Amino acid sequence: MNHNLIKTLLLIVITSCTMCQHSPSPFQIDTDFPGGNVIVVNINGDSVQLEQDLRDTEGKWFYWSFRVKGAAGRTLNFEFTNGSVISSRGPAVSNDGGLTWKWLGDIGSSDTKFRYTFGTQEDEVYFGMGMNYTEKDLQRFLDQYKDHPGLKFETLCSSGKGRNVELLRIVNTKRTPDFKIFLSARHHCGEMMASYALEGIMETVLSDTEEGRWLRNHGDFFIVPLVDKDGVEEGDQGKNRRPHDHNRDYKLQIYPEIQAITKKVPEWLDGKPVFFLDLHCPWLRGGSDGNDPGKGTNEYLYFVGLNPENDSGKLVEKLHQFGTILEATKKGSIPYRAAFNIPYGTSWNTASNVKTPDLQKSSAWGSTLPNVIFSSTVEIPFANASGVVVDACSARELGHDLAKAIRLYLVTS
Ligand SMILES: [Zn+2]
Repeated sequence: MNHNLIKTLLLIVITSCTMCQHSPSPFQIDTDFPGGNVIVVNINGDSVQLEQDLRDTEGKWFYWSFRVKGAAGRTLNFEFTNGSVISSRGPAVSNDGGLTWKWLGDIGSSDTKFRYTFGTQEDEVYFGMGMNYTEKDLQRFLDQYKDHPGLKFETLCSSGKGRNVELLRIVNTKRTPDFKIFLSARHHCGEMMASYALEGIMETVLSDTEEGRWLRNHGDFFIVPLVDKDGVEEGDQGKNRRPHDHNRDYKLQIYPEIQAITKKVPEWLDGKPVFFLDLHCPWLRGGSDGNDPGKGTNEYLYFVGLNPENDSGKLVEKLHQFGTILEATKKGSIPYRAAFNIPYGTSWNTASNVKTPDLQKSSAWGSTLPNVIFSSTVEIPFANASGVVVDACSARELGHDLAKAIRLYLVTS
């Protein structure tokens, strides 16, 4: 046996003994799933340093999601090294492959680090800044309705990377609708809590209830559930994507999804009154990051007011009417008052905060549609709304309340 081979064998024996006596088995961190996003900076024993992967984002943002395998029975410490990226209730955690999620902590959790003890059977755990929602979650939701006569599965367009961008239509083809209702989510792909609220709206519209039947008989719904489809699937930040993000694309229209919306929606309107609502999530926390110009404004539910200069249809007043209806009738746990809304000129909703005034947002574009009777953006907090937990359940409840408020608003408008 030559000298080098003896050395090699010795090293293997020593390494094996060291591993079996002192080191637990190695664990793996990966992002190889829809919505995955993280950069592993360093692993030292039980301590893991991470960063959100900013990709083509201008400045900082906070979306991340990763999976840990092979850590059953261990306690690991995770620390993010590039700013405030964890909600006030800690990370969202799933131990059933991303099917269901819960917040790890409670209000007061660190915005940069958390510790997790893996159960002895927990061989695979997902973590995220929010409760991941990608195409497979949408498909699981829609599978319940595949035989529903009121729901039609259409295609808005093919995404920039060739994915199918879903267009859902809810319409009673035996009647002429009185109203057109446009709903969208994920213009900012990282704002996944909006998708659970959109599910709640669709649940009510498709339900065999008085509200559901009324909405289907009088309304014609045009729903784009995952606008930035590539960003949703690839786990991009989406917000402040260079050169501008999907929600700032309504004038220049560089993205196929926005080209398709701005072409198809006017064709679909058919002269009817249109209700236009775009669902978003705001900053992750209020006031915890020096980059956050909306200090303290992001942990409650609110609608964003239009610039009155561009408001020929009295939409500012109409938003207040809608807010008053929602406040008076809502039953879900997420608190809301019409006074929570952020009128133009207040908080972050100011001209000085719009860095590129030549770009146009979705709801501003919606406000220019003929016969528009409502156009706004709703901001649904990621984890904490006025002290109440935001999760899949409470966000769906909010969706039920929004659908009922839409009906009442249409009846009275
Ligand atoms: Zn947004």
